[in-house]
Amino acid sequence: MTGGIRFESVTVAYDGTVVLDALDLTVEPGEVMALLGPSGSGKTTALRAVAGFVRPVSGRVFLGGRDVTDLPPYRRGVGMVVQQYALFPHLRVEDNVAFGLKAQKVARSEIRPRVAEALELTGMAEYGRRYPRELSGGQQQRVAIARALAIRPGVLLLDEPLSALDAQLRSGMLSELARLHRELPDVSILYVTHDQVEALTLADRIAVMDKARLQECGTPRELYRAPRSEFTAGFVGSANLLPVSVGERGVFFGEQRIEVRGVVEGAATLCVRPHLVGLGAGPNQLSGTVSEVQWRGATHRVSVEVDGHRVMADVPELKAPPAHGDVVTLHFAPEDATLLAVGVGHE
Ligand code: ADP
Repeated sequence: MTGGIRFESVTVAYDGTVVLDALDLTVEPGEVMALLGPSGSGKTTALRAVAGFVRPVSGRVFLGGRDVTDLPPYRRGVGMVVQQYALFPHLRVEDNVAFGLKAQKVARSEIRPRVAEALELTGMAEYGRRYPRELSGGQQQRVAIARALAIRPGVLLLDEPLSALDAQLRSGMLSELARLHRELPDVSILYVTHDQVEALTLADRIAVMDKARLQECGTPRELYRAPRSEFTAGFVGSANLLPVSVGERGVFFGEQRIEVRGVVEGAATLCVRPHLVGLGAGPNQLSGTVSEVQWRGATHRVSVEVDGHRVMADVPELKAPPAHGDVVTLHFAPEDATLLAVGVGHE
């Protein structure tokens, strides 16, 4: 089955409360799309609408170009993996993986090679005879992924698949998922997460969700380099957000004129990433008092109060970092200063 997912103005409500508001979004065949947003923003609901576990009150869902809105989950041909593995405890790994194939009435002679293929893909070929309780959390999650892949879905839905794992395992599984995607380049993946690192690492594009709505969608680089809203700026990476006034004389932060790349009509917030702010003299120079210095191993984060606003600079580790109360100068390049449109993301 060829992949691709399309949400066409999909609205979902529970007891009259809209939790997904007219979502329009297309995931191309073979694309990894992350749905990124805080808890309760409607991400899982969007995923469940694709799987067929919730029914939209309006709008349509398409898979591989076909309208599946009225199809039951088992006829949609999607693989889904949720946070808590949800393996059948009384079934061996191989029978867990075979489960979807049996439900689809795949021929018995087909089942064994398909199970072997899926376990091979997830690095679990040796574990077919074990029961879930005999596996670690990370291994159980691999089995859950193998089970989802066994039906050779065109679309793979992943709902916070790493959040039950500890940090070290998570980073290993992140690389595993990236490898898996390279081996299955035609499968579209919709990946729900509230973790920006996962989204930035894995996704071809990120759809940023907040308050039941899609706020912004773009490549990780676009969203990081040039977010359109304060919400995205703050959620994808860390950001300095400074109030500015934009007039005929230019862009001003207090009395200080700021050079930016491209002016947005009516803009009132300037976004500069902390790692693009330097200490010392330079373009777009600001002076203020150091309020905090954090040592972060390879870098120092120096926070400076400038006209009552905190500006953070992430700089390579300093031999002689400034101290609390020191007056310092900061600067940033015009091409690293993005103006955010007023109101975007604040509806
Ligand atoms: P996210 O995945 O972004 O954390 P969800 O899509 O799970 O958000 O939830 C969106 C909103 O819908 C939340 O306010 C949640 O409480 C509500 N919700 C989710 N599932 C149900 C349900 N079965 N019944 C009622 N409300 C629900």
